[in-house]
Amino acid sequence: MQVGVDTTHRIADSVLEGLKKAGLPASPRNYELWYAHLEGRSPSLSRDLDVVRDAFGKIAQQDADSLYRIHVQRGDLSRSVFDIVSRFNEEVADLHEMIGKTGESATGNKETLGELSEQLRQSTEDYPAVGALLEGVFSVAKDMRVQNEVLENRLAESTSEITNLQRSVESIEAEAMKDPLTGVANRARFDRAIAHQIAEAHARDEPLSLLLADIDYFKSFNDSWGHQTGDQVLRLVAEVMNANIRGGDTLARYGGEEFAVLLPGAKLENATMLAERIRGAVECRRLKKRRTEEDLGTITMSIGVASVRRADTAESFIERADECLYAAKGNGRNLVVDENAIAGKESGAA
Ligand code: GH3
Ligand code: MG
Ligand code: MG
Repeated sequence: MQVGVDTTHRIADSVLEGLKKAGLPASPRNYELWYAHLEGRSPSLSRDLDVVRDAFGKIAQQDADSLYRIHVQRGDLSRSVFDIVSRFNEEVADLHEMIGKTGESATGNKETLGELSEQLRQSTEDYPAVGALLEGVFSVAKDMRVQNEVLENRLAESTSEITNLQRSVESIEAEAMKDPLTGVANRARFDRAIAHQIAEAHARDEPLSLLLADIDYFKSFNDSWGHQTGDQVLRLVAEVMNANIRGGDTLARYGGEEFAVLLPGAKLENATMLAERIRGAVECRRLKKRRTEEDLGTITMSIGVASVRRADTAESFIERADECLYAAKGNGRNLVVDENAIAGKESGAA
């Protein structure tokens, strides 16, 4: 969509006015968010902004940040996918045309060769004419070699272009599966991984365990130290968890301050031990404010642990881990609870 110069200036004026009314600073990121909204780039962004504005009058920076992540950053991803698809289509159309043209001239060459060989057959007695005819055959052969070479070069170029496009698609796909704040897998990637891992565990008759971990009293941490410091803590927790798991495990940000870890091959008792190690490692970290080195104390996590059963779907598996997490919160937090510990309330534990 091409937007005229006047329109962009009009939108820019309204952006600054809009940011002021919403109580947001005119930072480049907020500016981009509001511009996208006024430009009508994403109806869902405008709808979400309205919801927040209706509820609170003003818009908090943290809400603006989440809306930016969801609507603008992801929007960029889908735009680059769109770009790649159109470049790919152009490439294919180009090649198609080229092969068509080479095909046409190859047909022409075939006809010329046919005529030449017919003349050759009829003129066996006429040696001078044979010489001239052979010249003709050579020239057609040369023509075809040149055309083939051009086509080969073009195919080689195209292959490398398509390989580049494939790499871009792969890196965009990987980016779309990552949580932008912590760099670990996002919920979409986790949902895929859990379905896949359950099927694998059943097929191989191997254990699979799941941790659901939630930071304790994180709301009051944010209230005391600010959302940005809270974001740093989320990054740190992801790092601590990542340092304690193995290559085949999947660590994902499951929700706001909630993380999930899928542990293929781990039995409940091993998963519980790992959860205990993570809980201890988080509890031990003394938190400091980055620039000022101010002491922020410590945070803790509650963790629920479940192991997959034959009859489990992803939902029932997650639900059991969530019940354990709920029990850990109910029992005072900073605790690991596994499904054996709550088995009294249920029957048929694996
Ligand atoms: P509990 O011990 O019961 O889990 O209490 P809690 O305060 O951690 O839980 P609650 O669900 O009441 O609040 C979760 C808080 O997590 C609220 C929100 O401010 C914070 N949070 C969620 N996502 C983010 C984020 O992306 N960044 C920051 N800084 N905070 C977040
Ligand atoms: Mg919490
Ligand atoms: Mg929570």
